[in-house]
Amino acid sequence: MSRVVVLGGGESGVGAAVLASVKGHDTFLTDCNMLQEEAKAMLERFNIPYEEGGHTKELILNADEVIKSPGIPDSIPIVEEITGNGIPVISEIEFAGRYDKAKKICITGSNGKTTTTSIIYFLLKNAGLNVGLAGNIGQSYAFQVATREYDYYVLELSSFQLDGMYDFKADIAVLLNITPDHLDRYDNNMENYIKAKFRITRNMSGDDCFIFCADDEISISHLNKIVLQAKKLPFSQMKEVSEGAYLKDEKMNVVYNNDSYEMYVNELSLQGRHNIYNSMAAAITGKVLQIKDEVLRESLTSFKGVEHRLENVLKVKNVLYINDSKATNVNSTWYALESMKTPVIWIAGGKDKGNDYQPLYDLVKDKVRVLICLGVDNKKLHKEFSDKVEEIYDAGSAAEAVDIAYKLAKSGDTVLLSPACASFDLFKNYEDRGKQFKEAVAKL
Ligand code: ADP
Repeated sequence: MSRVVVLGGGESGVGAAVLASVKGHDTFLTDCNMLQEEAKAMLERFNIPYEEGGHTKELILNADEVIKSPGIPDSIPIVEEITGNGIPVISEIEFAGRYDKAKKICITGSNGKTTTTSIIYFLLKNAGLNVGLAGNIGQSYAFQVATREYDYYVLELSSFQLDGMYDFKADIAVLLNITPDHLDRYDNNMENYIKAKFRITRNMSGDDCFIFCADDEISISHLNKIVLQAKKLPFSQMKEVSEGAYLKDEKMNVVYNNDSYEMYVNELSLQGRHNIYNSMAAAITGKVLQIKDEVLRESLTSFKGVEHRLENVLKVKNVLYINDSKATNVNSTWYALESMKTPVIWIAGGKDKGNDYQPLYDLVKDKVRVLICLGVDNKKLHKEFSDKVEEIYDAGSAAEAVDIAYKLAKSGDTVLLSPACASFDLFKNYEDRGKQFKEAVAKL
């Protein structure tokens, strides 16, 4: 019996502790903060010892293995001490993967992970497969592995989860794109972040498939440097590919193993260029898994989208209100603005993570009439955009922003909340920001 110590008592940590305990390990969970009531109830239900509000070294440094939650950086003292003592530190996904025989479809990227993971899960469900959904989304992977059995898993993986993965192997890996994000956790070194994302390809063999974006220069240049056994299946909106997916005459074409599938992109339920990429990645996955064309078509035309991602909220006086609160970086806001077909009243701002707004300049000049800044400190947005929009305002709450937008909107406009910034200066998180926005819109 080996001793497994779990660092961090959030969703993934508690799930990992449950799995470790179910598999007969001497398990202990430790968290420097206080645990949620539900977390404690779950640990007690499985008789798992734990501590909260601090770390007792003697109970940690005797571990054979430590499972670290993805939110905890490597640089904190307790992690340094653990690694300094030669104790392996792994992620919950690595640990759970050992006990899971299901075929694993894993999705990573800087943007679009949740959307693409959700489309693929929807597709596999519609195909009648016995499939689970986990990773950065919903209930933890480890808890599900401990309590039920699936033939397939669709897993959303962040770079932090990938960091702690060594022997895990994806059967199908999807890398959507790589743009600078979370660089603070990678010593401000882009190369380290790129390598973390590419860990999704570890251990893959010639029977496995790697699906990636041929239009993403960062992905391609790294791919050219490494040796990869997996079958490479690119998707592109710029050029034809022999196997994978590409765009031609307004149609998405998917080619795999001498079989092909096509559909008009305007049939896709999720619109916008970024969603064409996401749908392409899902369609290739579907083809690899030999899902029928009817099921592919039906799924891609009826998928409802995910909350807070370019979510159509309501049309009031012929003005459409869109909630894209999850757009917490410049790249995702770029795609949101790019997909707008009417004049835009743009609500942006929040906690700026060192944004470079230049990629947005032309889109803002072309499409945005009014900018409403929704943050504590809006100076940077004023400086960057006051010469590119007709009017610019400050709002201290979602309700105030919606109120200003409502007064200024003309019939046919779109009011778009796509902040390009994190939310925690005014809100608990991006969900809270999106929820408050939707509530204010509902009251109009
Ligand atoms: P993630 O899980 O990677 O954060 P989401 O699916 O939650 O991604 O989407 C986050 C934001 O990025 C949303 O604003 C969404 O509209 C935008 N987005 C979705 N897919 C893509 C993509 N392929 N490229 C760029 N932005 C995207």
